[in-house]
Amino acid sequence: MKIHEFQAKQLLAKFNITVPHGVEVTDLADVRRIYDELEGDIVVVKAQIHAGGRGKGGGVKVCKSADEAVEAAEAILGMQLITHQTGPAGQKVRRLWIEEGSNIEREFYAGVTVDRKKRSPVLMVSTEGGMDIEEVAANNPEKIHRAKFDKDGLDGVTANQLVLDMKVHPELQSDFVDIMQRLTKAFLALDCDMLEINPLVTTHDLDVIALDAKMSFDSNAMFRHPELEELRDIHEEDPRELEASGHGLSYISLDGSIGCMVNGAGLAMATMDVIKLHGAEPANFLDVGGGATKETVAKAFALVLSDPSVKGVLVNIFGGIMKCDVIAAGVIAAVGEIELNVPLVVRLEGTNVEIGKKMLEESGLPIITASDLDEAAMKITTAIKTEAV
Ligand code: GDP
Ligand code: MN
Repeated sequence: MKIHEFQAKQLLAKFNITVPHGVEVTDLADVRRIYDELEGDIVVVKAQIHAGGRGKGGGVKVCKSADEAVEAAEAILGMQLITHQTGPAGQKVRRLWIEEGSNIEREFYAGVTVDRKKRSPVLMVSTEGGMDIEEVAANNPEKIHRAKFDKDGLDGVTANQLVLDMKVHPELQSDFVDIMQRLTKAFLALDCDMLEINPLVTTHDLDVIALDAKMSFDSNAMFRHPELEELRDIHEEDPRELEASGHGLSYISLDGSIGCMVNGAGLAMATMDVIKLHGAEPANFLDVGGGATKETVAKAFALVLSDPSVKGVLVNIFGGIMKCDVIAAGVIAAVGEIELNVPLVVRLEGTNVEIGKKMLEESGLPIITASDLDEAAMKITTAIKTEAV
């Protein structure tokens, strides 16, 4: 689960990590008053969406007067902000964060995540702050320093070494050590799966400040943090993923054209591979899991179809606990209620497969059946090509 920058900054402040003073704004009428209340002449008006790269997309403006701040707020609030992380449709800006400007000396990068290969949480720091870290990793991997840490957070010796590697201003070294250690402690205490400060800055006023913050939480640990649940912003989440999770289903949006209903993550992966092998791309994946009823399967099927980029649907089920006849009943029920105007290929195997196949046949629906995964993928990719002509 992701949260907004300003929410992350409020959480970081509780761990004694310095963040700029700021105010959340949803009403343009408040901007001038907030400008006056904040200290100094310079403020930064920042779009709050769950995606990075806002600066380049026009969602972050440094303003030197109240008029400039009002102008920036008017331009940003309500805009459809497009960044490399939002996709081409962009994301609507529903709130702003206006904060005091910082007198930046240097910009660093600090990120905390779990390194699965090392089986450990790691802190990554770099002198290349403000840049896209993926780009740094690709072009200058030697500029990213990594350090593992354990349940107590980053140890002092490692932190001191990193500060020397970064050539931090001598007067700021001990503050920099503190902030790195506090970031790792916050990461652990909040059960984050990602915490990124880009940029982490040193200032001419001799402060070390988290100027930006991206934070997301391990969804499997959310039960330990009921207070974090309140930070959820459903406007930022994929509406279909949200609806699916409300029905106990997992749904993932992708960029292709074939809607996929499967059971189990492994079968989802295999289905994706075979679709790609036949030259197409999945539009989404809906995993009906093991315990779904006919009604949930119908809901699931309707969700897959509701994605406008779906040009064809592939149902690929290996019935174990999930029985093939339940799947068939769900698909038939769904198609009875909503119009099926794209080709549908169904491949069923496993428990009650004969009953399921018979139900589909007798339903009279224009269903293309397949007996194995390869045939199913071939049939759906051919079907969408034929439709397109
Ligand atoms: P992002 O583009 O979504 O990562 O948003 P950021 O919060 O990182 O802001 C983008 C850029 O704006 C930063 O990399 C900084 O260079 C700049 N910026 C943000 N706040 C300040 C500030 O207080 N003073 C100055 N001078 N620049 C700022
Ligand atoms: Mn940033």
